[in-house]
Amino acid sequence: MVFLFGPPGAGKGTQADLLVGRYNFKKFSMGDLLREEVAIGSSLGKKIEPYLKKGVLAPDEIVFEIVEDFVLENLNEKILFDGFPRNLNQAIELEKLLARYNKKIDLAIELYITKEEVIKRMLGRLYCSKCGAVYNEVTNPPRVSMVCDECGNNLEKREDDNTETIKKRLEVYEEMTRPLSEYYKSLGILVTIDASGQKEDVYKRIARVLDGYIK
Ligand SMILES: [Zn+2]
Repeated sequence: MVFLFGPPGAGKGTQADLLVGRYNFKKFSMGDLLREEVAIGSSLGKKIEPYLKKGVLAPDEIVFEIVEDFVLENLNEKILFDGFPRNLNQAIELEKLLARYNKKIDLAIELYITKEEVIKRMLGRLYCSKCGAVYNEVTNPPRVSMVCDECGNNLEKREDDNTETIKKRLEVYEEMTRPLSEYYKSLGILVTIDASGQKEDVYKRIARVLDGYIK
């Protein structure tokens, strides 16, 4: 089982999807699973809904109910934990839960990127208001500057991508997640990957590590 984590702007979601396609991981994404429970109207979903509506994190007891269901459903699969656990306490709880099924996180992949590059990237986000395509000046540029590859429309920047918001999100990440690196390092399973540059290059760096681990 693999855990992938990294700060906002590191391209974690993109990399997770690429890895799922190549290695047949079952992806554990807490956000997706929470929304799914709410959408199907399960009893768990009804408990979760108020938290989602308020935009706050669901309490750990609900969170771990979801984790356990997912692990049980995928006992014979390779699981990629995408951005979960979010903090040290959850990491320790996850380890205990997995141990009950004779499982553990075998590899924790941390995407590393400097604050400056995150800011540059996030300010470089571009989107097409006509067809919804998304680009990035740094990591995923359109073929022609500021023009949509798909439909030829002029690209725009998102208004909420300003430096202050980004700095705040990075601080929250640092505070909650730094201890995770230390934890997985102490277990001897931390691999830090340089997440700078284009997404294909970052993907190759991760794949090199995973190829060695999976065979
Ligand atoms: Zn477009």
